[in-house]
Amino acid sequence: MPRPIVASISLSALQHNLAVARAHAPAAKVWGVVKANGYGHGLERVMRGFAAADGLALVEPDYAVRLRELGWTKPILLLEGFFDADDLPVLARHDIQFAVHCEEQITLLEAYAGGADWHVHLKMNSGMNRLGFQPDVFRAAYARLQKIAGVRSITMMTHFANADDAGNPALPLKEQVRRFQAATEGLAGARSLCNSAADLMHGELAHDWIRPGVMLYGGSPGGGTAADFGLRAAMTLESRIIGVQDVQPGEAVGYGSRFVADKPMRLGVVACGYADGYPRHAPTGTPILVDGVKTTTVGRVSMDMLEVDLTAIPGAGVGSHVELWGQGLPIDEVAFSAGTIGYELMCALAPRVAVREVE
Ligand SMILES: *Cc1c(COP(=O)(O)O)cnc(C)c1O
Repeated sequence: MPRPIVASISLSALQHNLAVARAHAPAAKVWGVVKANGYGHGLERVMRGFAAADGLALVEPDYAVRLRELGWTKPILLLEGFFDADDLPVLARHDIQFAVHCEEQITLLEAYAGGADWHVHLKMNSGMNRLGFQPDVFRAAYARLQKIAGVRSITMMTHFANADDAGNPALPLKEQVRRFQAATEGLAGARSLCNSAADLMHGELAHDWIRPGVMLYGGSPGGGTAADFGLRAAMTLESRIIGVQDVQPGEAVGYGSRFVADKPMRLGVVACGYADGYPRHAPTGTPILVDGVKTTTVGRVSMDMLEVDLTAIPGAGVGSHVELWGQGLPIDEVAFSAGTIGYELMCALAPRVAVREVE
């Protein structure tokens, strides 16, 4: 008998969410972003779920090669580019496209002696100050790439810091767009700007390619709930109640005795803990479903278990169904309670959790 925790992954939800991404930017091609093992959903599975995407984008060169071995024939893009000269022959052999975000990468490309057809994505730092060339040196980088014999196309790319909060005074979305447009004006090549938040809320910025990630999995990128955007949860994390405790006022619950009952309570013990990927920082009061009824966690999350309040669900007991997040309970609600974002929870799903594929 396996431990009862299971992550169900819905292929139809992946397909549906991809269609939502397209609907917001109908003229653009779509990179389905599948980094971090498809945001925790499984690389091979999301490859099938996103069969209709125009390409798949990720950051792990070994996973990019794996996609080719699994039979993905459409474009593949490495969003952080390559890391060493040794990566280049592998990328050439498997026809893998990559970002170029620093001088060191250009120097390695110039020195590469093998034959290749490179499709490079020249990344601009338009204000996020993570990867990319500053606007004032972007044209020089472009010109250097143009001179490299194997370079067949140069796509211009940037990434938004605040697409879900366009008015952020520290860096308004418009300012990033302005810097990008000024520095790329007149240069030949495709443009790639939008992550999920930009696609959903600023589809007019889509240009040639969009790069949605979290929305494809039914997570919200901010700026509204996943349901507001018509997205469906692709991952539902489920388990069962494996024990019940009746506690009296004054009794403490779990490690550190952080919760003390102030009334008689009935508690359920759920086979799910932080070693399954449930956030340990989720405090008492984090939402959870038992037999479809919304209740809350109680006390500290431990490695393999957490406890829930069954006081108002008298019919629930050992064996009752528990949904940690998913189709009945948005992952973003759980994440918010734990002080994080849905992205982190889905990516952190632990390898020991059984995965079941569902329609
Ligand atoms: C992760 C990533 C994306 C996707 O972001 P979401 O917020 O998940 O849509 C797009 N572009 C780049 C460069 C990324 O690293």
